[in-house]
Amino acid sequence: MSEPKKKDPEYGAPAVDQESRAYWEGCGRGELVLQRCRDCGTVQHRPRAICATCLSSGIEHFVASGRGTVYTYSVVRQNQMPAFREAVPYVVAYVQLEEGPQLLTNVVGCAPEAVSIGMPVRVDFVPTPGPRGEPLGVPRFVPA
Ligand SMILES: [Zn+2]
Repeated sequence: MSEPKKKDPEYGAPAVDQESRAYWEGCGRGELVLQRCRDCGTVQHRPRAICATCLSSGIEHFVASGRGTVYTYSVVRQNQMPAFREAVPYVVAYVQLEEGPQLLTNVVGCAPEAVSIGMPVRVDFVPTPGPRGEPLGVPRFVPA
């Protein structure tokens, strides 16, 4: 006898704005797009119009490696929201990206018990249409 198939969390349309559009569009292409300051070199996430370190508006976007490690995580065992109800238990984690920033995300593709702090992970994307049907995506991570 098999257990009912557990679903991955279902993501709603990303809340796209002018600052985050390049990030979400990158996710739709299967690319993790981060920002780098042309003046001080800081790599930042979440996307912003200016550098959060030196306040420069000299921001450029680049495609990150998509590699990182689990910085910390929690296993969610109860969530009655329809998009998550059938996904429990699932892992919510901060992933430490190779480029520096941390990303709040899900770790999927393994049992929650297999996740550990320091575990190498790589990005994976769920194609997710934007509010106007544009091809965006939501990043989550899988064991590397
Ligand atoms: Zn800067």
